[in-house]
Amino acid sequence: MNTKNNPLLSPWSTPFGLPPFDEIRPEHFVPALQAAMAEQRLELDAIGAQAEPPSFENTVAALDRSGAWLYRLDALLSNLTASATSPALQAVQRELAAPLAAHDSAVKMHPGVFARLDALHAQRHSLGLEPEALRLLERLHLDCVRAGARLGPQAQQRYAAIMQELATLCTQFAQNVLADEAAYQLVLRGEDDLAGLPDFVRAAARQAAAERGLDEAAHVITLNRSLIEPFLTYSDCRDLREQAWQAWSRRGEMPGETDNRTLIQRILVLRNAQAREHGFDNYADYVLTDSMAGAQRAVRQLLGEVWQRALPAAERERQALIAMMRSHGVQGEPEAWDWRYWSEKVRQARYDIDDAEVKPYFSLERMVEALFDCAQRLFGVRFEVRPEVRAYHPDVQVYEMFDAQGRSAGLFLQDNFARATKRSGAWMSDFAYQSRNRGVDRPIIVNNNNFAKAAPGQPTLLSFDDARTLFHEFGHGLHGLLSNVTYHRLAGTQVLRDFVELPSQLFEHWLGEPEVLRRHARHWQTGEPIPQALIDRLQTARRWGQGYETVSYTGSALVDLEIHALSDPAGPGDVVAFEQATLRRLGMPPAVGMRHRLPHFQHLFAGAGYAAGYYVYLWAEVLDADAFNAFVEAGNPFDPMVAQRLLRHIYAVGDTVDPTTAYTSFRGRLPALEPLLAKRGLLPAEAGLPAP
Ligand SMILES: [Zn+2]
Repeated sequence: MNTKNNPLLSPWSTPFGLPPFDEIRPEHFVPALQAAMAEQRLELDAIGAQAEPPSFENTVAALDRSGAWLYRLDALLSNLTASATSPALQAVQRELAAPLAAHDSAVKMHPGVFARLDALHAQRHSLGLEPEALRLLERLHLDCVRAGARLGPQAQQRYAAIMQELATLCTQFAQNVLADEAAYQLVLRGEDDLAGLPDFVRAAARQAAAERGLDEAAHVITLNRSLIEPFLTYSDCRDLREQAWQAWSRRGEMPGETDNRTLIQRILVLRNAQAREHGFDNYADYVLTDSMAGAQRAVRQLLGEVWQRALPAAERERQALIAMMRSHGVQGEPEAWDWRYWSEKVRQARYDIDDAEVKPYFSLERMVEALFDCAQRLFGVRFEVRPEVRAYHPDVQVYEMFDAQGRSAGLFLQDNFARATKRSGAWMSDFAYQSRNRGVDRPIIVNNNNFAKAAPGQPTLLSFDDARTLFHEFGHGLHGLLSNVTYHRLAGTQVLRDFVELPSQLFEHWLGEPEVLRRHARHWQTGEPIPQALIDRLQTARRWGQGYETVSYTGSALVDLEIHALSDPAGPGDVVAFEQATLRRLGMPPAVGMRHRLPHFQHLFAGAGYAAGYYVYLWAEVLDADAFNAFVEAGNPFDPMVAQRLLRHIYAVGDTVDPTTAYTSFRGRLPALEPLLAKRGLLPAEAGLPAP
């Protein structure tokens, strides 16, 4: 390949250092990543070969600087394959999965570098290091140890092989789910098929049909959450609901090329082997030693406590559904594809609320303004749209962030709409983290959502849940954008993973503030603010359905923990049988089921990020419910003193401070569990509340 024509082989002279997306082609990645890996190997060899004795600067800080170009390219590739992929990019991703994993192992097992790091680590308390430098040394050392740096040569070879195979399998897993999602469409024709669907669902389904090139009389339901959930909630056609639900819940489980079941079994065998190399007999133990929870015990305690309270709450909800079914002359028990439908009927009857009434107040445009306004009032930052800066897809909006002093301080990309080339869910990621050590003063952060795009000329209207997702991801986004640290490894959201959902879940709270709603939740046609009575009903109605949500989430977290806590090196065998047996043992109501079943549980198997770690949302919810109370106690959701502490101790510090210390510095004490239980309506005093 001619190096002059490959934009990935030299630094980018683009505004903000964004990748030159228009010039990048899939075939550029393999040679560029190979070159970047070779470059980092040279950097590491140079660190290891120094004649000077190891010092923090010549070893630890240098290691933190190494691989900067590789990091940029790797981030670019994973962002593109997640948000705007193609068969050619997917092939690149499969081709590079094993070499990148091998490289990562080689970096962390580099004998010369690790010997120096290990020597410094042994005397770390007498080196006179600043707290952030000490934290970096400890973190990098632990990264290496947990990646096998202390193993003998043969074990290291085995270990690297395990990691490479895992990387390949996880890539395949994610591509299989995407393929199953892209392959399915439920075509609706005529009023009979559309019965019960409100205008916003019809409009989204019509748009999906247009994007798939269907004729004007067709509507399409895809397996995107923002389309299928409303369909299951509103469609009067029970047989179509069942059809759609079956397809949705069986992603990754259909026999054929995209079947994930044997793949998961192999991933679990390899993860157990990985844990055993470190002296643990199961993967959950290996993972949880490096978490805020510290061990399975603390996780089981929290999940068990919530599970026990949530089951009766879900049962009360089920009884209410049955009563509603009977009042409509429907016999039998609610099935999984009925739950949302009847639940919505109860919600409308009890709380006099329906999405069709709420959504006109939550246009995407207004909600984005709300995000930026809240960020400005809390942290003094300002966002300005940069229409001239082009990203990887025309739907991506690019914003420049300015700090309280008016300095340009970061770039924020927001990619809000679902499309067939994007994976499902919502997430934050980065193109570049802030780091003084790497000379990156402006981070480049991206938010992905999967909202159904409205037809041209129409506003995209969000449900309250969609708006909450928008706030959630922007909370992660701020965690990346407000980062103010020296070392790359400690920047932004690279914290312990049971801490990472705190900034995101905490930010959701501002959406629920009446003051924010009055200011920003305005009718897209009239500009009228949302009526106070509707806000009140919204707030009360949020309690409804918490039993269902909590059970489906907590059940998923428990299955995740159980399957990764298996000590049998042969794995569970039939993963679906294991899933079903575990759910029966737990007493999972069949009509509720898991939020994500194992064959498409991307958190667990598209990578190792949330494996034995799906509990982290609940763990962080203990923190966010307690943390927001600091504003409640101050009597002002934008209290400047509390906001300052929040910025200083949580949003700006990345992983430079251990999470328990960070939280305690912000709150003055450790978190309590009660605010979480209250938020979910699971406190005994509230659990028995009669229906209003
Ligand atoms: Zn999150």
